[in-house]
Amino acid sequence: MARKIQAIRGMNDILPDQSSVWLYLEKTVADVVKSYGYQQIRFPIVENTDLFKRGVGETTDIVEKEMYTFDDRNGESLTLRPEGTASCVRAADQAGLLFNQVQRLWYTGPMFRYERPQKGRYRQFHQIGVESFGIGSADIDAELIILSARMWKQLGLLEHVELQLNTIGLASEREAFKVALVEYLTEFKDQLDEDSQRRLTTNPLRILDSKDESTQSVLKAAPSLDDFIGKESKTHFDLLQAILKANNVPFVINHRLVRGLDYYGKTVFEWVTSHLGSQATVCAGGRYDGLVEQLGGKATPGVGFAMGIERLVLLLETLDLIPDSAKFSTDVFIVSMGDAAEIASFVLAEHIREIDSSRVVLRHCGGGNFKNQMKKADKSEARFTIILGQDEIDQGVCQVKDMSTGEQQTCSLVDVPAYIDDKL
Ligand code: ATP
Ligand code: MG
Repeated sequence: MARKIQAIRGMNDILPDQSSVWLYLEKTVADVVKSYGYQQIRFPIVENTDLFKRGVGETTDIVEKEMYTFDDRNGESLTLRPEGTASCVRAADQAGLLFNQVQRLWYTGPMFRYERPQKGRYRQFHQIGVESFGIGSADIDAELIILSARMWKQLGLLEHVELQLNTIGLASEREAFKVALVEYLTEFKDQLDEDSQRRLTTNPLRILDSKDESTQSVLKAAPSLDDFIGKESKTHFDLLQAILKANNVPFVINHRLVRGLDYYGKTVFEWVTSHLGSQATVCAGGRYDGLVEQLGGKATPGVGFAMGIERLVLLLETLDLIPDSAKFSTDVFIVSMGDAAEIASFVLAEHIREIDSSRVVLRHCGGGNFKNQMKKADKSEARFTIILGQDEIDQGVCQVKDMSTGEQQTCSLVDVPAYIDDKL
């Protein structure tokens, strides 16, 4: 036998028993974002490597060690997108949608990062991202966060996630903070984990994010970013908090929250859960006023977030929050014996779908004896099984079996679609 080829490590198939949860999640989110006026944008999975180097930042984890980068046949360096914001900016700017305009956009699709696969962390994973462009004031930050809270509400997740909020100020404020932080941490360099030691020179802000205990204890007495935040950023942050409070969106301020991508400034936020172990963040975002310009466009403020679909699916499953209506189920299974009945069963199935196009109607295909067909009907877990044989056809009727009670009755072929629709 030929050797079977397996999927790439960290890249999962979404099998039929899971895909209905995905569809439910995607549909719920799509409806919510639409109700806030966001329109979908789609862009390629592959981009020029430079887009992410410049957009995400050379010294971020993503660019330093997580990208799937390869040369195409022309020797051009391409990268499988590790996130969506840079691509979204590239696409929107290229189409002339950004300068002096307000845009509310969202996207969904696979992202690729070479990380150590574990629960909630994969090499191909999926995000839904929401971005808004053209508004520099805090009201749009608030709109996005309120929108995300509504998504959790719709999904039954609101009480299971916590909003963490911070302001990381302007670039100049972060620079001043970085100098103070590096000065302080250099004194304790040998107590820092290896990554953090390296980051002292490459990306010191990220040290605040370290999970290492020794590093965290050194950080306790470190200078606080909060002390470096200027008036403009503070006012922005205050308005955001006031709007959230007025809308009863609870949050906690986490001064250590910095986010791993270079493009953020002012507002950053994460929605975290205590139900998924260390892969706790289900949604993360913030303001990125410098990004469009950094990517060669005219200065345009932006703010957005991305949520990890796998982690949300895990969370919905862990908390048993998937409504029955979202699960795949068969409404009607049609069994037929003989050529005339088989043909009639097609017509009947179409009649049932005609009345309500959301009905799941399965016809037994491939022939087989009555007993076998009934076994298939049982296995399908359909609510109703309709049985059609030559006798039924001759009389213009069918047998309708309610699979939940086992009751069977004769029904005219003309009336059965309405009868079933009424019962379902
Ligand atoms: P983390 O700190 O968990 O690595 P991140 O800061 O790298 O997350 P972002 O780039 O902000 O993540 O992506 C937004 C969201 O996408 C995350 O909050 C998470 O839900 C999801 N996500 C990120 N990386 C992965 C991954 N490798 N596998 C599954 N989901 C992911
Ligand atoms: Mg990461």
